Amino acid sequence: MAAHIADTLAAGAGLNDPDAVRVLCTEAVRDIAGLQRFGVRFDAGPGGGPALGLEAAHSAARILHAGGDATGARITRALVASVLERAVLNPTGQGRLRVETGAFVTDLLTDRPEQGPTADSPRATGVAYLSNGQPRQLQADAVLLATGGAGRLFARTSNPSVATADGLALAWRAGAAVHDLEFFQFHPTTLAADEVPGGPPALLISEAVRGEGAVLLDAAGYRFMPDYHPDAELAPRDVVSRSIALHLAATGAPADSPVFLDARGIEAARGPGFLARRFPSITAATRAAGYDWTTQTLPVSPAAHYWMGGVSTDLWGRTSVPGLYAAGEVACTGAQGANRLASNSLLEGLVFGRRAVEAFLGGGLAGTSAPRKVPSHGTAAPRAVSAAGGLPDARFRSAIARLRRGRNSNGCPRWCCED
Ligand SMILES: Cc1cc2nc3c(=O)[nH]c(=O)nc-3n(C[C@H](O)[C@H](O)[C@H](O)COP(=O)(O)OP(=O)(O)OC[C@H]3O[C@@H](n4cnc5c(N)ncnc54)[C@H](O)[C@@H]3O)c2cc1C
Repeated sequence: MAAHIADTLAAGAGLNDPDAVRVLCTEAVRDIAGLQRFGVRFDAGPGGGPALGLEAAHSAARILHAGGDATGARITRALVASVLERAVLNPTGQGRLRVETGAFVTDLLTDRPEQGPTADSPRATGVAYLSNGQPRQLQADAVLLATGGAGRLFARTSNPSVATADGLALAWRAGAAVHDLEFFQFHPTTLAADEVPGGPPALLISEAVRGEGAVLLDAAGYRFMPDYHPDAELAPRDVVSRSIALHLAATGAPADSPVFLDARGIEAARGPGFLARRFPSITAATRAAGYDWTTQTLPVSPAAHYWMGGVSTDLWGRTSVPGLYAAGEVACTGAQGANRLASNSLLEGLVFGRRAVEAFLGGGLAGTSAPRKVPSHGTAAPRAVSAAGGLPDARFRSAIARLRRGRNSNGCPRWCCED
């Protein structure tokens, strides 16, 4: 647990809220056990215990997964099934779950609708939404926003088409405080392909693939990450993404060029069929895109992936608007700091989502708002985690250019091999 806390703070560049990190890491075990009670089954290792994966910036293998690389889908499927078992589809059912699909929330209702974002926060009293195009309203004692992220604001993203920052806009219009909006994480390894506006997201090649030993090569076949960070391909995501940009700039390649993820060594080391067993979804998706990653490298590029910022909440999911809660990617608890540690997002939604519900049900905290300025992030200067300290300076650029002019005995540029 202490190591998980330390890793989360290190990846977050010291801009995390330490209390939120402590809650996240100490309460994770209990909430994961809760998931298992709702039918989520995590993959088991050879000895029968949980199979734990290593991901970037984690100092130990500690990531649970389900269905190989289908963890989110497996969790969602089990929880949806559990909700539907308890749902009362009759809208008049009192005190039970009512499920309404295809609803698009357009506004939060408040007790002072005439006041704009600059006024003192009114109280949230429900939502206005469209159902099959028809405007409807739902009055509520409390509203929990769980509308996800905003990757679709960027040209290249791993996020689904629904990640359009709706929750943040709804909360902002209702007068809620927001925080850390400038912190957006770029995942370094999504399959490079032409972007189709409004089309499918860029295919994510999970960090766990690098955790299993895949490396990043440039167009000349040179493994460049060790030049940028001691943890090489397992440096924090933002560092790897920035290193790719730096390396492309340093070697004179166009900024939107791909680099190459080489997983061939994994298959060679772990035996034929390992990649397909460990990463069935990625194997199928890359095959559909025309690649056999057991014998070929994959062209990859960074893409907008996760929003650390969002609607400010305290440790109980309360926003600055009484009656309005937020959890998951739309919320900013402060646990992620400037950069989320891999796989801490599902955990954050789980832990703080449960806390928000407890706060509401507990009554004592329901209806009250979090302090206006929440969370209180540390004032310490951010710890530098950038790759090579930022963009290459003129001296570095000219040294690289000099090296690039020569070729070694393998015919590669001199800077790419040891000779
Ligand atoms: C490809 C990919 C892989 C990932 N892998 C991992 C991983 O391995 N581990 C990890 O921890 N995290 C991972 N993440 C991040 C993690 O999946 C997300 O942070 C998390 O799913 C966010 O959950 P959420 O419940 O906050 O939002 P979401 O799961 O995005 O759900 C938001 C929901 O709100 C709905 N919604 C939005 N706007 C409105 C509106 N106006 N009206 C009504 N409904 C609305 C959406 O339709 C959607 O159903 C991954 C993300 C991606 C994209």
